[in-house]
Amino acid sequence: MNLFDGFGRSISYLRLSVTDRCDFRCVYCMSKDMTFLPRHRILSIEEMTLVAQAFNELGVSKIRITGGEPLIRSNISLLFKNLRELPLKEITLTTNGSQLIKHVRNLVDVGVKRINVSLDSLQADKFKTLTRTGKLKTVLKGIDAALEAGLKIKINSVILKHRNMDEVRDLVGFAIGRQMDISFIEEMPLGVINEHQREKEFVSSADLREHIAEVYPLTPSTKNTGGPSRYWQVENTSNYIGFISPHSDNFCSGCNRVRVTTEGLLLLCLGNEHNLDLRQIIRHNPNDIEGLKQHIVAAMQNKPEKHHFDLNGNKPQIVRFMNMTGG
Ligand code: SAM
Ligand code: SF4
Repeated sequence: MNLFDGFGRSISYLRLSVTDRCDFRCVYCMSKDMTFLPRHRILSIEEMTLVAQAFNELGVSKIRITGGEPLIRSNISLLFKNLRELPLKEITLTTNGSQLIKHVRNLVDVGVKRINVSLDSLQADKFKTLTRTGKLKTVLKGIDAALEAGLKIKINSVILKHRNMDEVRDLVGFAIGRQMDISFIEEMPLGVINEHQREKEFVSSADLREHIAEVYPLTPSTKNTGGPSRYWQVENTSNYIGFISPHSDNFCSGCNRVRVTTEGLLLLCLGNEHNLDLRQIIRHNPNDIEGLKQHIVAAMQNKPEKHHFDLNGNKPQIVRFMNMTGG
């Protein structure tokens, strides 16, 4: 079975957010003081498993667990164990790396092969400023433990012009040195933040690429992970650098994904508000997976053609933060 939206795009990829909470407060993702959801509004592990199963039965073959910080969700190991029972092609994870050391063994045991780790700085003080609470050393140890256990890692970095642009080449060097790919993500206007003006910190992927290529010559690549990243290969290495450019290169025509937030909202597009409340459906009819699937199939017709991000703020913006959206 295949799941299609109203524009004929095949939806094969679900990003499932397991918590809105996080042990970091990255400056582009959250404000300093955040209010998190009360427990009763959050899907239980059993409800998340049911959602995953419904999507899987509809043809979704890849699930990425995200958040907030997924590895701080209580009983996250049970969810991974449940997902392992489904005939998925891939289960993967996006994490800030702070709890990786503790979870690496378990991730490998449940069949996770690749993970994304977010890392915006290699300088301890700057890392602390950007994450507000994070400890670089712990994250680096987590990365090394994961590599040692055989996990493939892609680093994700958000670059802000006046804060960590000076570290772009160091981050690339760090990734190459550990045989990891790295993707640079343009900052998206999700949620109201007060520490910087997003449009003043914006660096386009094209500028980043030029900056990197002065030191690491790049060749365009056809590598395609079915996502929004456009990849370039670092010459004379087997490493790839991805650029995710929601502003400078609209990636919507090939969109193959939807998101489910930790409170069970099916989000049909990162940059639009179109959604369906799966929690209400599940709690109304807890064991009716066929009914749930029918709702999901019908909702696909409302998936918008594209997002309308605008850094200058004169178009409708998304008020939810990335931790609510499930990055
Ligand atoms: N806590 C985990 C982490 O940081 O990897 C998973 C969730 S986080 C929301 C997922 C990704 O979203 C991270 O790579 C983060 O850098 C990115 N992100 C968060 N807010 C963003 C924003 N406003 N624009 C672009 N990327 C953002
Ligand atoms: Fe937490 Fe990830 Fe958001 Fe940073 S980007 S605050 S680590 S959810």
